[in-house]
Amino acid sequence: MSFRASVLTLYPQMFPGHLGQSLAGRALERGDWLLETVQIRDFASDKHRSVDDTPAGGGAGMVLKPDVLAAAIDHTIPDDDERPRLLMSPRGRPLTQERVRDLAAGTGVVLVCGRFEGVDQRVIDARCLEEVSVGDYILSGGEPAALSLLDAVIRLLPGVMGNQQSGASESFEDGLLEYPHYTRPQTWEGQTIPDVLVSGDHSKIDAWRREKSEKLTEERRPDLFEAKKKPQQG
Ligand code: SAH
Repeated sequence: MSFRASVLTLYPQMFPGHLGQSLAGRALERGDWLLETVQIRDFASDKHRSVDDTPAGGGAGMVLKPDVLAAAIDHTIPDDDERPRLLMSPRGRPLTQERVRDLAAGTGVVLVCGRFEGVDQRVIDARCLEEVSVGDYILSGGEPAALSLLDAVIRLLPGVMGNQQSGASESFEDGLLEYPHYTRPQTWEGQTIPDVLVSGDHSKIDAWRREKSEKLTEERRPDLFEAKKKPQQG
């Protein structure tokens, strides 16, 4: 069964975007994953087809109306649909490679893209939307966040990446950042490729890569490094 992504958005023309290119694009053409976009505005009921209104309590911007978004969700997700329903949101739990792997192992995902100041809290609660963030910064809408999440998931689907091995050693896959890469020419601007990498000694190469991975992680992401050490201490 193909992985099925449903995206609720005010800008369906932003999809598949870059996911129509390269490996993800070919996988989409083959039907390895399916994409459905739902125009939230189609579920507006007034004659102006309005989807937003001013924030209760005052303040800047507009808020996505709960009735319109709920109608779009109810139309998209039948009762027996068990796909996770995620609302792209800077307040959500930050997306991790572990979560991406879990999603890729499932049947699909429903992604709701916010706009304006965000979404009325009542629809988040009533439709059990789980908020997911792609990082501690503010985008103008959920669409680029949804595209990032889908990109990360789709590359893990069976058959999408030609070389499966390349997925396994990636940053975060074992809780560490990846070691540095080199390729020919052997000497470039006076710098050479580290000797060990051209030695042909695979156990030495593995040990070198592991050491570099650990050092980089300790320097750049002490949070990951500590988390990695903990289970071994216990
Ligand atoms: N007022 C909100 C930000 C709204 S940004 C706040 O301060 O929390 C508008 C929309 O962009 C959001 O509803 C969300 O869907 C999307 N968005 C913005 N930043 C995001 C992020 N870091 N991760 C995921 N979605 C994001």
